[in-house]
Amino acid sequence: MNQLLNKISSTLSQGNIDLPRLEARRILSFVCSKSEDEVALLDRELSAEETQKLEEIIRQRLEHKPLDKILGTKGFYKYDFIVSEDVLSPRPDTEILVEEAIRLLLSDKAQKIIDFGTGSGCILLSLLAESKNWQGQGVDVSAKALSIAKQNAALLGVETQVRWINKGWFDADLAQVLDTPVDMIVSNPPYIPSQDIKSLDDEVKNYDPLLALDGGEDGLHHYRQIAKVSAPLLKDGGCILLEVGINQAQEVAEIFCQAGLRLVKIVSDLGQIARCVILKK
Ligand code: GLN
Repeated sequence: MNQLLNKISSTLSQGNIDLPRLEARRILSFVCSKSEDEVALLDRELSAEETQKLEEIIRQRLEHKPLDKILGTKGFYKYDFIVSEDVLSPRPDTEILVEEAIRLLLSDKAQKIIDFGTGSGCILLSLLAESKNWQGQGVDVSAKALSIAKQNAALLGVETQVRWINKGWFDADLAQVLDTPVDMIVSNPPYIPSQDIKSLDDEVKNYDPLLALDGGEDGLHHYRQIAKVSAPLLKDGGCILLEVGINQAQEVAEIFCQAGLRLVKIVSDLGQIARCVILKK
């Protein structure tokens, strides 16, 4: 398979795909239903069906459809999540929010968690997989996103720990349908300022839902509303963890402090960007 790997890799590279070798391995592993390590050692020809599958994947990739949207899965934290064009693909930058949340929750205690804008469910479900004692409520205005999140809950074996709520934070009756008070709220809301959407990478703006990206004129529109609804939903001592965009951490912290929460800390991602704001009630 090494020869084939080289061939795929050079085709991707000529098509200006970053990390062609890495993607070639991922593609071949998908086509052959083998792990990436196994596929490099495999010593056989592809079947006609596999070859057809491979060619179709490469065709779509050369049109710059993101590989995770073609293959339908994306690795995040410890798991592979089902993705589609109805959900924001999980980003490595979001993993620190999961790590920080796990540090704050008590694994041997019943803990209730709300995820605002759950999308694929990657944040909430990664948390629930850490302890059978934890219960989650995944809120999303998109029914299509929730259907992906449900599939991911089944994949991770946590479906009995989660409830899905097809509502948005601007819905007047949201608080009534939630089981509260909760120990923690997590959220990675849309935060890209509307006028910046057009300058996003094509692979983001053409394949991730606008609904999950557009944060209004200054990017902070959704934080203001989440701040308004969140404080009354939390137990005293409960925490809220928010992902934020570049240069938003201070302003987001202020918005939530004005809503009656206390700033605990701001955590940077691997690229040293202030990415996660943690507050307490
Ligand atoms: N991190 C995403 C991006 O920059 C945006 C996610 C969001 O708006 N919550 O592509």
